[in-house]
Amino acid sequence: MSEQAKKIFGIDLGTTYTSVAYVDEYGKPVIVPNSDNQRITPSVVFFDGDNVVVGEVAKENAKIYPNEVVSFVKRAMGEPDFLFENDGKTFRAEEISGFIIRKVIQDAEQHTGGKITDVVITCPAYFGINEREATRRSGEIAGYNVRQIINEPTAAAIAYGSIESEEKVVLVYDLGGGTFDITMIDIQSNAIEVICTGGDHNLGGKDWDDRIVAFLQQEYQNQTKTDEDILEDPDTCQDLLLSAEKAKKVLSQRDKTPVLITHGGERVKVMLERKKFEEITQDLIERTVALTYEMLEEAKKKGYWNYDEIILVGGATRMPQVTARMKKEFSVPPKVFDPDEAIAKGAAIYAWKLSLNEGMRKRVAAKTGKTLEQVEDIDEIELENVLEEVEELVAGDTGYSIADIQRAQVKIKNVTSKSFGIIAHDSNDQEVVFNLILKNTDVPTTITKTFGTAIEDQEAVSIQIMENESSDTIAPPEQALVIGTAVLELPRRLEADTPIDITFKLNEEGRLEITAVEPTESRRTVKAAMKTRSVIYGEEFERAKKRNLSIVVS
Ligand code: AMP
Repeated sequence: MSEQAKKIFGIDLGTTYTSVAYVDEYGKPVIVPNSDNQRITPSVVFFDGDNVVVGEVAKENAKIYPNEVVSFVKRAMGEPDFLFENDGKTFRAEEISGFIIRKVIQDAEQHTGGKITDVVITCPAYFGINEREATRRSGEIAGYNVRQIINEPTAAAIAYGSIESEEKVVLVYDLGGGTFDITMIDIQSNAIEVICTGGDHNLGGKDWDDRIVAFLQQEYQNQTKTDEDILEDPDTCQDLLLSAEKAKKVLSQRDKTPVLITHGGERVKVMLERKKFEEITQDLIERTVALTYEMLEEAKKKGYWNYDEIILVGGATRMPQVTARMKKEFSVPPKVFDPDEAIAKGAAIYAWKLSLNEGMRKRVAAKTGKTLEQVEDIDEIELENVLEEVEELVAGDTGYSIADIQRAQVKIKNVTSKSFGIIAHDSNDQEVVFNLILKNTDVPTTITKTFGTAIEDQEAVSIQIMENESSDTIAPPEQALVIGTAVLELPRRLEADTPIDITFKLNEEGRLEITAVEPTESRRTVKAAMKTRSVIYGEEFERAKKRNLSIVVS
């Protein structure tokens, strides 16, 4: 295959499991098994002396070396205060995720026999700017060229859209190990359009496990007639967490399962029934229903009152209570769709589209005598004139069929899952967040608003950039997160209320660029540096990358 179809791999970097896929020479997405011949790899990292072990062995070691093993790191992405300590060194969530990425890509290289340089990584639709940036950093720390970060439900819809020929509106109910996303997607013949998205990035299969652990602890106390908190013992706690996840999976198949609790020389057997399990987790499933309704209300504002299908993705949708509850609540019966693999496969298809579209652009440029940048803005008629010929050339370059080349041109349209604004003062001089971009707005988007200086002869404007989940233009600052600041120095002697234009530009990937223009004739522009403690930058990033790559991962 020529350079024009560079193989870009898709990674589903999950809270509990990670998987990798690529598109084969027949245009089909395939999962790459790991070195244990498993299609998913536990997202668990074990610091074994100077080396790092990722996957099943690490997960098993959690019992024996609870302090050397780190799991569920995805929940800490973008959190500057999360630091995992090992042997006097500290690691941020991005670095730990970097080890997971290295492991799965290393295995994929072994399996496919080629060097992998470029990847697309998925993240929950619900991730904000910091979590997304941290996800990108993980891939970069691992030494890869991260071509794009895409939303997990969008990836699932791409995988679904690739096998469905009918146009339809689907709800993607994605319950993974640590996050819940609910997304409405309009699948058309030439586009996959995200209409609305919602969810909770702290709700997932792990919460179901935690409920089992709490129940087991209670049962232990009842049976031994003690009030000892056995979860204070890290070994017992790890053991119970592993047993709880296993029991949960068994209960997806059977009505009951025995669980053995071993603690301090005592052995206690508990029979866990599915009915009981569903009772102690009922509120969790209800929360997903409430979030689904919230999202459906938002969709109505965009003119979408109905949908044709509900598809269930994410490993935790295997719990029968999910299908049963969805069936009861919504008129459309849900379909379980490739829960473990849809996201990685969708990411692979997206990566393949990127690669083929690059090939297309190069050929269009050569054909029309334009530069690659000019091709981005080429008008439709000019493109139409050369399209057929270019498709044939790219088919020749890559070995894919014309139908595949056309399939790769399906447009993906996304929305933002967060609102973005700045701190401003309302008419009562109260601090408020003034949202320039509201959540569920189509991306890319650019919005400019004019604000006034607060006082006469103001020296500078400090712009605080805020992320929040409100659907209103004015939101309370306490419910928003500062994601960056920018300072615009002003010329002297401006009057109070002098207008300043502030522009927010959000790209398809959820990256935000902010500029402010000063009001005098020079109209000087400042770019807000989106620097926060939450993301590794500059030297710290380079150091993290160097350290990561110097550690052997297996
Ligand atoms: P994902 O992030 O999509 O890989 O989902 C992982 C979550 O799905 C974890 O919480 C798993 O415990 C859960 N899971 C996987 N298989 C099953 C199953 N058969 N029954 C219940 N939960 C499952």
